[in-house]
Amino acid sequence: MTAAATLAAEGLPVVLVELHPEPRPDWRASTFHAATLELLETIDITAQMHAEGLVVPKYQFRDRHDGLVAEFDFRLLADETRFPYRLQLNQQHLVRMLHDRLQADDRVELRFGTRLTGLEITAEGATLQLAGPDGDTELTASYVIGADGPRSAVRNALGVGFEGFTYPERFAITSTSVDLQELLPDLGHVNYVADPQEWLFILRTPESWRVVWPVPEGFTDEQVNDPGYLQGQLQRVAPYEPGYPVIDHQVYNVHQRVASDFRVGPVLLAGDAAHINSPIGGVGLNSGIHDAMDGARRLGRIGRDAAVDAEAELATYGRIRRTVAVEYVQADTQRNTDRLRESDDVVRRQHQDDMRAMAADPDKARAYIRRVSLLESVQRFGIGRTPAELELELDAPAPR
Ligand SMILES: Cc1cc2nc3c(=O)[nH]c(=O)nc-3n(C[C@H](O)[C@H](O)[C@H](O)COP(=O)(O)OP(=O)(O)OC[C@H]3O[C@@H](n4cnc5c(N)ncnc54)[C@H](O)[C@@H]3O)c2cc1C
Repeated sequence: MTAAATLAAEGLPVVLVELHPEPRPDWRASTFHAATLELLETIDITAQMHAEGLVVPKYQFRDRHDGLVAEFDFRLLADETRFPYRLQLNQQHLVRMLHDRLQADDRVELRFGTRLTGLEITAEGATLQLAGPDGDTELTASYVIGADGPRSAVRNALGVGFEGFTYPERFAITSTSVDLQELLPDLGHVNYVADPQEWLFILRTPESWRVVWPVPEGFTDEQVNDPGYLQGQLQRVAPYEPGYPVIDHQVYNVHQRVASDFRVGPVLLAGDAAHINSPIGGVGLNSGIHDAMDGARRLGRIGRDAAVDAEAELATYGRIRRTVAVEYVQADTQRNTDRLRESDDVVRRQHQDDMRAMAADPDKARAYIRRVSLLESVQRFGIGRTPAELELELDAPAPR
């Protein structure tokens, strides 16, 4: 949807094909970082997001036994970004806002309830086979952005690999309306809590507190979804005598995987279709939005100006977005996850010391939050920067 809105803003006609008959209402990502808010501001949607979202300037690293380890304050970056905080807003709200926008845009044709069943690259672009409410149809497109999630039919049709691994434990995510900060007064609004047996990720959104934990290997769906188990887990976070109302609960497999190519001919892969990662750090949705905007800006340039070297633009998309996915998104989420689940006591203590030292040093803290808010990768590679600009950037040494 971000790609469609950006393509339309670039002046291009767009067809959006979506399997589900309606925009999906499920609870998924809930954090928007500074770099993403800056990008979304260019399609004029951040004011609406702020009207519904929760501004969270600080976040905490904690240990389940030792309590608060370190706190980081995004306001250290107030001179670098207009958004020195995380905006907490559940993903389905951005989906709704973008859907409203796209419905009112003459340049966009929405085809909901339509499945992509095949894709063939042709001399003119690509032909898509679609199965929708009117039966089987074909659609010819000059360019395609495959943003169709981790099981991407586009990626599969192109025969592109998706190497990586799946964590042995599944993650459970449970939302409650009880205010956890009233029960645990020194808790932040976003908290990463390390523990060798059962780490936690606790965060607040406008309508809920959400708690994520690892499900022991071998637990069945029945065991994980059992209300008594969920209640027991929440009670162990903070005892609450009336019992926690659970307003949403999901359990899911977590992977670290990257597509072997992000671009084949006129087709770009973006978001979860191109890379998936652990949610620790809250960058999956964010980096997908960065892909979408990078690709859409390049297609905008190609569509507007016949002199633009389309091949160079598309190749640059593939090269840069894959580099960002590997060097930032995958590397950081894996490190974040490993830090939380570390079982060696000596290494765990070392992580704590490192985090404390980083939080105590304003320069190091600044560099760290610049990276986790995705500002560093955007400052380094830009979003939709021209191939010529990026050649210069790639020659420069990476920031340490
Ligand atoms: C339970 C859960 C919690 C999460 N928590 C976080 C978090 O805290 N932070 C974070 O950053 N990320 C989180 N994520 C990940 C985040 O939701 C994804 O990174 C994000 O949704 C990716 O967006 P996308 O558009 O690339 O893919 P998707 O959101 O998967 O969208 C792909 C769309 O393509 C459609 N589609 C699929 N196949 C076809 C087809 N053949 N034809 C037509 N349409 C098709 C699907 O219906 C879907 O609407 C979470 C994910 C889950 C499941």
